[in-house]
Amino acid sequence: MHRARKRFGQNFLQDNGIIYSIVALINPSSDMHVIEIGPGLGALTRPLLSNLDQLDLLEIDRDLVAYWNQENLKGLKVIEGDALKFDFLEWARNRADKRGLCKVVGNLPYNISSPLLFHLVSAAKEIDEQVFMLQAEVVERMVAKAGSSDFSRLSVMLQARYDMELVLEVPPEAFDPMPKVNSAVVRMIPRRDFDLSDAQWHSLEKVVAAAFSQRRKMLRTNLQAFADRLSLTEVELKARAQDISVARYIEWAKIITA
Ligand code: SAM
Repeated sequence: MHRARKRFGQNFLQDNGIIYSIVALINPSSDMHVIEIGPGLGALTRPLLSNLDQLDLLEIDRDLVAYWNQENLKGLKVIEGDALKFDFLEWARNRADKRGLCKVVGNLPYNISSPLLFHLVSAAKEIDEQVFMLQAEVVERMVAKAGSSDFSRLSVMLQARYDMELVLEVPPEAFDPMPKVNSAVVRMIPRRDFDLSDAQWHSLEKVVAAAFSQRRKMLRTNLQAFADRLSLTEVELKARAQDISVARYIEWAKIITA
C-alpha cells in the first residue's frame, strides 16, 4: 500500500462525485492527446483512460512510476520526471496525430503550483486546454478581476495568456489525506488574441513585477523607472497596481519594448 508523501504534495482524491465531475470537465474523447501531471494512485487516470486511446502520465515519485509500469495498461505511457523541468512544448509538438485536441490536466501538487503554471506558459501556443485542481486561494487569485484585492501579479500574467474560469470548488473531505485548505478546479484556455513577442512578454513580466512590488504604493512610485516611456495619466499615477486592467498592462509592455 502506498503511503502519501508530503514532500510530493500527495493528497489523493477519493470522492467519486468530484472525480466524475472533473473527468466530465476534461471531456476526454478518443482522438485527444492528454498528459496528466501527478497521477498518484489513479483517481483521475483510470476513468480518463477508459475514454481515451492514449494517455501520458508524468510522475516524480519513483514508487508510483513503478506501480504504473507494473499495471501495464493499454494506451498508457508513463514518464518519470519533474513537471517543473518537463518540456511540455516538445511533448505537444511530438504528438503523432496533430488533429486531436491537446490537453494538460492534473490534480497538482500545491507546493509547486505557481512555478508550474508559469513554466507551462512556454507551451501555451501548442496546448488547447489545461484543467487543474489547485488550492482554492490560488485559483481565486488567478481569475480575480482588476480592482479586487485578490488581483495580483499571478492574475495579470496568467490572464494575459489564458482565458480562465473557476469551474468547481472542492472541500478537503474529498481527499485522503485531507489537505488543510479548500481546493478548486480551474479551466485555462490559451487566448486566441495573444500577440506578444517573447521580448514583449519579458517586458510584461518586468512592468507587472515593478507595479506590484509594493502593493500599497501608488504607481507614481512603483513605475518610476518606466516613467519616461509610459505616459501615465494623472489617474494612473495615483492608482495602485491592483486597479490597472490586464489590457493596459499589455499596452505598457508593448510600449516599453518598442
Ligand atoms: N492525481 C492523484 C489524485 O488526484 O488522487 C494525485 C494528486 S496529488 C495532489 C499530486 C501528485 O503529483 C502526486 O502523485 C505526486 O507524486 C505528483 N508530483 C508531485 N510533485 C511532482 C512534480 N514536480 N512533477 C510531477 N509530479 C509530481
